[in-house]
Amino acid sequence: MQSMNPATEAVIRDYPEHSPEETDERLDFARQTFDFWRRASFEERGLLMARAAQVLRKRKEELAALMTSEMGKVIVQAEAEVEKCAWVCDFYAERAEGFLSEEAVQTDASRSYVRFDPLGPVLAVMPWNFPLWQVFRFAAPALMAGNVGLLKHASNVPGCALAIEEVLREAGFPKGAFQTLLIGSKAVEAVVRHPAVAAVTLTGSDPAGRSVAAAAGAALKKTVLELGGSDPFVVLRDADVPKAARTAAQARCINNGQSCIAAKRFIVEAPVYEAFEREFVKAMSGLAVGDPADRKTEVGPLARQDLMEDLHDQVYRSLKAGAQLKCGGKRLPVRGFFYPPTVLSRVEPGMAAFEEETFGPVAALVLAEDADHAVALANASPFGLGACLWTADLALAGRLAAEIESGSVFVNGMVKSDPRLPFGGVKLSGYGRELSAFGIREFVNVKTVWMA
Ligand code: NAP
Repeated sequence: MQSMNPATEAVIRDYPEHSPEETDERLDFARQTFDFWRRASFEERGLLMARAAQVLRKRKEELAALMTSEMGKVIVQAEAEVEKCAWVCDFYAERAEGFLSEEAVQTDASRSYVRFDPLGPVLAVMPWNFPLWQVFRFAAPALMAGNVGLLKHASNVPGCALAIEEVLREAGFPKGAFQTLLIGSKAVEAVVRHPAVAAVTLTGSDPAGRSVAAAAGAALKKTVLELGGSDPFVVLRDADVPKAARTAAQARCINNGQSCIAAKRFIVEAPVYEAFEREFVKAMSGLAVGDPADRKTEVGPLARQDLMEDLHDQVYRSLKAGAQLKCGGKRLPVRGFFYPPTVLSRVEPGMAAFEEETFGPVAALVLAEDADHAVALANASPFGLGACLWTADLALAGRLAAEIESGSVFVNGMVKSDPRLPFGGVKLSGYGRELSAFGIREFVNVKTVWMA
């Protein structure tokens, strides 16, 4: 396993993978730890989780720099990511007990109630794009519920994977409560099958989701899947166009364009299409592309060369199918995997930029005849993660929000994750929810207790 700096193409470090025997030892240890961790009180768990938040804040600069070097996240966003991880730890440290307290139910019994018991070791297969946030938003609720965590992180961020384990150890969690497995994707199926593992969550692409869900299905183990997206950003005729265009550039290029909930298809009603296109192209072309360690940089490199090549191929195929190039569209002639903010206009269903997830700073502008056509275009995607809607008419926004097939709809703002709100998707974007009370209840045994 290797860390490579995508801004310089320099190898940072090689990491030896865990052998099948070493992996099995960790799985058995997880099971043993679960036997006592499940009995810890919410107060005990919460104390450690709050300490994890403190450790994250104390080590913010170092952890942010690690993300920037391993996957090219711009440093200011990397620091914000560490802060957000601390927030989710504090959130569940304070709220887990309330989310999971027993619920009394009136029945024919003298007493009946529902309790929420942990399931056991949960395997988390995670992506590189938010190397810390994706893991903490799983780990904080899972550990607070009394489960133990096993992390199989993406192969290009082994340094981040080990640092997360270290942060939780430094906070005082028992050694087996959270362990990193340094294994490749081929070794995942055997881990899923292992009797110690109770459930699996995967955040990543839909092919990875299908493969892990199939293995978990064969073993009859619960899964949560957080997969890709091709989020629509719908701009209606009465929208504040300059504000929508500025937000659109940010919503497309955050995390160098590599966010599952980045806006990807910009569906604009005919009367404001040209005005939006003008403002949007200006905003996209004005973003500062460069060294992710520089605090002034707004767009850094893509995380890997193969991802940059795939993205360029999607641009090429869309242009060949009739889309118009308004800016960008070519790899920058410098060392590192830099691809400029790119706008494709007049994109239509059937073109690569419409049908596929574009994981980089490439925007597809789509013309809609009216609001209902815009919603039909928004829904004409195999994905259903997030969606944005820009309009001055909030009653109309409420009606359209009910029609849009996605896990969230943000009106006059960009889609974001927030510990207080459920997060997840429908269709090829997966199933199950993370964050909020819904997230912590995914990996629990909802147990009925009935007393005569
Ligand atoms: P990926 O290639 O699917 O990898 C994600 C994780 O799955 C990695 O740990 C990877 O391991 C593993 N994996 C890949 N194929 C596998 C297989 N056949 N069996 C078992 N494990 C497998 O995705 P990525 O490139 O890291 O991340 C980008 C994708 O994640 C995008 O589609 C993005 O939209 C999605 N994403 C979704 C959310 C959400 O919450 N919905 C959040 C962030 C990202 P290796 O690295 O070892 O291959």
